[in-house]
Amino acid sequence: MARCPLCGKALDWAELINQMLEKGVGEDVFKDRDKFMETFNDFVFKCPHCGEEFYGRNLPASETEKVFELLNDFKGSIDWDNKRVRLRLNSLLALDSMLENWDRKMSQKRS
Ligand SMILES: [Zn+2]
Repeated sequence: MARCPLCGKALDWAELINQMLEKGVGEDVFKDRDKFMETFNDFVFKCPHCGEEFYGRNLPASETEKVFELLNDFKGSIDWDNKRVRLRLNSLLALDSMLENWDRKMSQKRS
């Protein structure tokens, strides 16, 4: 789970992506994985809990890549008119890692 590197509180991915949308990061960036990762890593986010700022590169890259995939897998994941993410990204990420763990458990049992 992504946490604020300064206060350690859990961060909401939808809220982070909303910050990018509010700063005018465009649709082209959200469609191109390399562009997205680059923009994300250099983006200055503001923690909603402690108000401190930090770079996106301080967050786990594996989750950032998953978020990119989720946003592209679901049609209409971003409401471009209102600059808001429509997906509950944290729930989807939790579900995703749960399924991965389950997969691992099942393959261990089989071997
Ligand atoms: Zn914080």
